[in-house]
Amino acid sequence: MKWTRGTRNDDVVDVRGKTARGGAATKVGVGGIGVALIVLLISRLTGVDVSNVVSSEGTGQAGGQPNPSGQPSHGTGPDPFADLIEQIKDVMKHVQDTWTTVFDQQVAGTPYRRAVLKIFEDGIETKCGYATSDIGPFYCPGDEYAYIDLRFYKTLDKLGGPGDFAQMYVLAHEIGHHVQTILGAQATIKRANPRETDNQRSVRQELQADCYAGIWANAARDRLEAGDLQEALAAAKSIGDDSLQRRGGGTVNPESFSHGTSEQRMKWFRRGFETGQLTACDTATQPI
Ligand SMILES: [Zn+2]
Repeated sequence: MKWTRGTRNDDVVDVRGKTARGGAATKVGVGGIGVALIVLLISRLTGVDVSNVVSSEGTGQAGGQPNPSGQPSHGTGPDPFADLIEQIKDVMKHVQDTWTTVFDQQVAGTPYRRAVLKIFEDGIETKCGYATSDIGPFYCPGDEYAYIDLRFYKTLDKLGGPGDFAQMYVLAHEIGHHVQTILGAQATIKRANPRETDNQRSVRQELQADCYAGIWANAARDRLEAGDLQEALAAAKSIGDDSLQRRGGGTVNPESFSHGTSEQRMKWFRRGFETGQLTACDTATQPI
């Protein structure tokens, strides 16, 4: 995709190397309330421990293995993520500018408020509890931050979602969860589907975040290059629950789905992309 170097964006904060693992983890209590809070309150891209899904293929620290030194992964050498972070700053500005416009045009009475993207490594303290990289990128409604360890992208690559537009789709999906927080989507979905399980409602929520990522992609049409849309669709496909379960070596168990099948994730991303309309992303009442 096309992007511009040197974009200033205060909504992207790089805290790599500043997030010591040990102290924070013991404060929250691993396995205690911290983990419970995380399970309940954060929205993740995949809903599985992505490091487990690909660990058999030797991706090393792609899923965010502990960094024992506590030092930034780039040490004292050049930062391998410098270019990527430049791109993220530019694209995330566009993602959130897009939502400001969409809210102005399509949401009566509610302005968009910007989220912050925190780039961390290994683990980080959030208002949803202490989180490690193993769970993949996520959004915490408590602090309205999206979080990513950029080494996740190596995992996404292995899962079948390579390319820069795929990487940006991931961020747009997390901001989709932020849009849901502003609009109260979780309550809407619950009201509309009182008899469904938490997992079933989670699928509706995740598919809506994919649709919202598509709304951004629609607004980014003039930035797309050949193959970009396919990259995003491939990424959506690669992290479908059925694909991940198959990949993890287990049987496919629809009752445990939390994010939707590959087919569903592609369908809803495409729907957002083709319409650019919030109303087209109504996963609360429409068949998914
Ligand atoms: Zn999600």
